[in-house]
Amino acid sequence: MLTVQTLEAHAQALRARLTGELVLPGDPGWDEARQAWNLAVDQQPGAVVLAETTGDVVAVVEFARDNDMRVAVQGTGHNASPLTLLADTILLKTQRMRAIDLDPVTRIVRAEAGALWGEVTAAVTQHGLFGLAGSSHDVGVVGYTLGGGLSFLSRNHGLAASSVTAIELVTADGQFRRVDAENEPDLFWALRGGGGSFAAVTAIEFRAYEVAEVYAGMLVYPWERAGEVLETWRAMDPTRLPDETTVLGRILQVPPLPDIPEAFRGRRLVVIEAVHLGDEQSGAELLEPLRALGPEIDTVAMSPAASLQMLHMDPPQPVPGASDYAMLGDLTPDAIDTLVAHAGPGSDSPLLSVELRPLGGALERPEAHHGARGTFDARYVMFAVGMAITPEMKAAVEAHSGRVVEAMDAYRADEGYSNFAERSGDAAELFADEDVYGRLRAIKAGYDPEDLFRANHPIPSAR
Ligand SMILES: Cc1cc2nc3c(=O)[nH]c(=O)nc-3n(C[C@H](O)[C@H](O)[C@H](O)COP(=O)(O)OP(=O)(O)OC[C@H]3O[C@@H](n4cnc5c(N)ncnc54)[C@H](O)[C@@H]3O)c2cc1C
Repeated sequence: MLTVQTLEAHAQALRARLTGELVLPGDPGWDEARQAWNLAVDQQPGAVVLAETTGDVVAVVEFARDNDMRVAVQGTGHNASPLTLLADTILLKTQRMRAIDLDPVTRIVRAEAGALWGEVTAAVTQHGLFGLAGSSHDVGVVGYTLGGGLSFLSRNHGLAASSVTAIELVTADGQFRRVDAENEPDLFWALRGGGGSFAAVTAIEFRAYEVAEVYAGMLVYPWERAGEVLETWRAMDPTRLPDETTVLGRILQVPPLPDIPEAFRGRRLVVIEAVHLGDEQSGAELLEPLRALGPEIDTVAMSPAASLQMLHMDPPQPVPGASDYAMLGDLTPDAIDTLVAHAGPGSDSPLLSVELRPLGGALERPEAHHGARGTFDARYVMFAVGMAITPEMKAAVEAHSGRVVEAMDAYRADEGYSNFAERSGDAAELFADEDVYGRLRAIKAGYDPEDLFRANHPIPSAR
């Protein structure tokens, strides 16, 4: 058996097979190679491979299989915090595999494993199209989609995973495969929501939608008005608005960083973000109750679809962060009071953002073509996040975000969502339906019985 102690001696054999780079502990560039997007995560794998080709991915999988090591595939490391115990593991980074192709006739996009959403959005919006990107421009297309992929357009078009048409990958036996609804449909099903436990994905194909313009933007109020604004928002029943409309509510404590616009820098705010796939008049009618409260800033207007990648003001580059989240059912006025008491004025919250994203619409309608995650039973997802520049800050953010989640326990839905889960836990709790979880475990047993692939939210084999 090869261990990390002897990996160095065998490194030459692996290096000879790679177009990309193998980086070992102690090599120049080691710290940069092992770094995740979340700078608060200290990844200590046995080795890092910066893959450049599908052949590199095959080489790493075969090397790990033959030498009793494991493989953790990583696009950006946005969700690296649950990945632990990497000593016997090769961290297979796909950040150099970034090609993006669009067929403007079929509107199918093919993105290599390291492509970022901002890059896809830039490529497709030139053609009046939009992929089901999430809020952040530098989240990886593949990791996001394997977890489900909740976009501002998901109430209308479903999760990103439900728009996938084919996946190219390498399985634990070292075989390259292209899976779709007809070819290895079980594996295709598992990957669309079951995460990275089943194979190393080298490219993904998915549908983009005709969306040139949206009626979108922010309504911003001082945080002293958090209770009033969020209760007005809740009373609009955001999960039952037309599918074309997504309106989320959040409490923000913006850090005083120089690259943040002055109107937001260092301020505490309550913010509504609205996206409406329709014209100004129909959108404005829906937002009327919130506008009647007199927001201090109102940016909601007809805008190019590309602007959606900046709407949520996600960090422009890697940052240290910690978070917690909960899937929630219907919210009552008490739920809003509880949230504001724990995250708003007087709460001593260290959290940068606590947001409530509405689900419903297409996200509650199961369809035969869906993969392992196509819908949510929950009505809202709550995400609470803060900066974790020092270990003390990290501990404070973890403790407080945990308290917010605990406070909302009475409204909790019986499921999870791996993309927003940044702590390790039992993957069974992510899936409300035991049959779905059982099927995922059986597929894991069929394709990766030795548990070669180490995902951030691992599905154990059914053996
Ligand atoms: C600022 C920010 C904004 C976000 N916004 C949204 C949002 O709007 N909607 C939403 O749904 N989520 C959102 N997320 C969550 C995000 O989707 C998850 O963190 C997702 O896992 C990130 O994928 P990644 O590839 O960038 O990250 P990584 O940490 O690189 O990947 C996460 C996991 O995906 C798997 N994986 C990645 N690449 C491969 C591959 N090639 N083959 C096999 N498995 C692979 C692995 O198991 C890996 O551990 C956000 C996260 C952040 C930090």
